[in-house]
Amino acid sequence: MNTISNPLLADGELPAFSTIAPNHVLPAVESVLADFQAEVDRLVADPGARDFDRLIAPLERLEERLGRAFAPVSHLHGVKDSPELREAYSAALEKITAHSTELGQNRALYLATEAVQEGPGFAALDRARKTLVEDSLRDFRLSGVALEEPARTRFRDIQNRLSRVETEFEEAVLDATDAWTRAVTETELAGLPESARAMLAQAAQEHEQPGHLATLKGPVVQAILTFADDRSLREQVYAAYNTRASDQGPQAGQFDNSARIAEILALRHEAARLLGFASSAELSLADKMAGTPEKVLAFLRDLAARAKPVAERELGELRAFATSELAIADLQPWDVAFASEKLRERRFDFSEEDLKPYFPLPSVMAGLFALAERVFGVRLVERHDVDTWHADVQFFDVLDGDGRVRAGVYLDHFARAGKRGGAWMDVCRTPLLDGATARIPVAFLTCNFAPPNDGKPSLLTHDDVLTLFHEFGHGLHHLLTEVHWPSVGGINGVEWDAVELPSQFMENFGWERGALDSFARHWQTGATLPQALYKKSLAARHFHAGLFLVRQLEFGLFDFRLHLDYDPARGPRTLDILDEVRREVAVLPPPAWQRGPHAFTHIFSGGYAAGYYSYLWAEVLSADAFAAFEEAGVFDPATGTRYRREILTVGGSRPALESFVAFRGREPEPDALLRSYGFAA
Ligand SMILES: [Zn+2]
Repeated sequence: MNTISNPLLADGELPAFSTIAPNHVLPAVESVLADFQAEVDRLVADPGARDFDRLIAPLERLEERLGRAFAPVSHLHGVKDSPELREAYSAALEKITAHSTELGQNRALYLATEAVQEGPGFAALDRARKTLVEDSLRDFRLSGVALEEPARTRFRDIQNRLSRVETEFEEAVLDATDAWTRAVTETELAGLPESARAMLAQAAQEHEQPGHLATLKGPVVQAILTFADDRSLREQVYAAYNTRASDQGPQAGQFDNSARIAEILALRHEAARLLGFASSAELSLADKMAGTPEKVLAFLRDLAARAKPVAERELGELRAFATSELAIADLQPWDVAFASEKLRERRFDFSEEDLKPYFPLPSVMAGLFALAERVFGVRLVERHDVDTWHADVQFFDVLDGDGRVRAGVYLDHFARAGKRGGAWMDVCRTPLLDGATARIPVAFLTCNFAPPNDGKPSLLTHDDVLTLFHEFGHGLHHLLTEVHWPSVGGINGVEWDAVELPSQFMENFGWERGALDSFARHWQTGATLPQALYKKSLAARHFHAGLFLVRQLEFGLFDFRLHLDYDPARGPRTLDILDEVRREVAVLPPPAWQRGPHAFTHIFSGGYAAGYYSYLWAEVLSADAFAAFEEAGVFDPATGTRYRREILTVGGSRPALESFVAFRGREPEPDALLRSYGFAA
């Protein structure tokens, strides 16, 4: 199949979605990868290709071309899947993964890149080009390719073994989750809302049992712990859930992850030492904004010192409420969600449903676009001549103040069959401007809102509004970039613990009275959000923020110390470290048999190893950045221009800390986050 008949290889302004078929995928990807490999071989063999223009720029063009062919496929896989497409997608993804692993292990390419950095032209390169070369060398080194034998082989063996044990860890958690069920009698259903009962009835059906069944699936566990009046049912579900894949509880020893945890920590430590780091925590920070372990620990402990008194006060109130109103005199971990829910209902008698009439999608979108124009100086103009994958999808040109089209974005709002749940921003086209080629960035913004029906527009929950603003924030980061190299343009190359800054930042507008008034309009009456309702939702936002925060801090500190303090002579010390962390931050220590770590897939199989802290880190950054707008007025164009220039346009071309300081005039501080949580700061 040639370029003419394969739309994935075409060079059009935008992908021709309506013509893409599953049988285009593999031939297109194979063809691009073959060209990629041939070009890499040629570049490595050419001793003249040891400067940016002759080595790095061609590689960037190849990356851009690969992305251009595969991004539409990966997107369709998410929004318009079919068995044929899924198969083609997996096969292509496997080839791309193998290709990039091989590229990372290409020692000749590593040495050639190193020669660029050591070459005479390097010092004269601009910031983005320099960073690109430095990041690329760092990634080569982190992949072990720079090691000498026998370390290089040992490192590769460790990586292979790690990926197997991490997969086994995750599988053990899945198996343990599936293996436990418990019949729930009609009496025990007391307190559960209709939706939860339906979930339990469906679980029974799936297991070919009559009545209702409790399982360890997340939503079921959450519903029972939050709503079930029956205390012993809550306790049993809590115990089964919190001892999954461990040496404790109803399935003790059956799926036990203890030995896997020990092996994973040992291997990560050994790999880090081979690369020259003191610990796997230091290795994890090599490409993150936080920089040093001391900074991460100080960050978490500072927050803990401020959050713990608030959490203690909240727990005290909850205990008093549980004793007097619920006849629970000895509040246990399996009572907390239940008692909190009862207290929340008592205090804030409103539901998400009350807010929905004020958030019709068209009005929210208009408000969001107006905000983008007022604060960041960009205008979104719909285009109707763009080929898409569904009639509901819209495409917008993103225009600068001078009327120039600088980017494009697809919006796909509504839930439908064949579309993955959730909301996300994804890259369609990366920016590339290297003299030979000029490509502007293009993004996909995908949500799963309820479609309009019965003459009603699509009405969003407040959560939906925040989600939309969040993804739009990621979108702006990609679309407004002025760094025109795929590896460091837009969201690419931004440190992992800073990439949520622009997205969480935008969510703040969804809580601002002034901003809300510009888009929250009752779909029938046009009225703005009543002040009483606004006040209640603000108060509900802060409800038990201290308890939430100390839990996040417990996870973050535990994960970080587990990797930082690993000592081969002493073994993993998982439970000892957990105990120490809990003594430091927890306000309601769980029973000694609790085994949360054994199912902590985020850090043992999900890529968050020594990185769980980043959830809170990004929240601090975004709250502190937004505080600059609160200080100057939330629509202040000068602050907006500075934010755009220092945070959004620079992409990954310089360290995120430097960008933050350039915007804020100082390093990040947690006060704004704590204020947004309702703590006096
Ligand atoms: Zn995000």
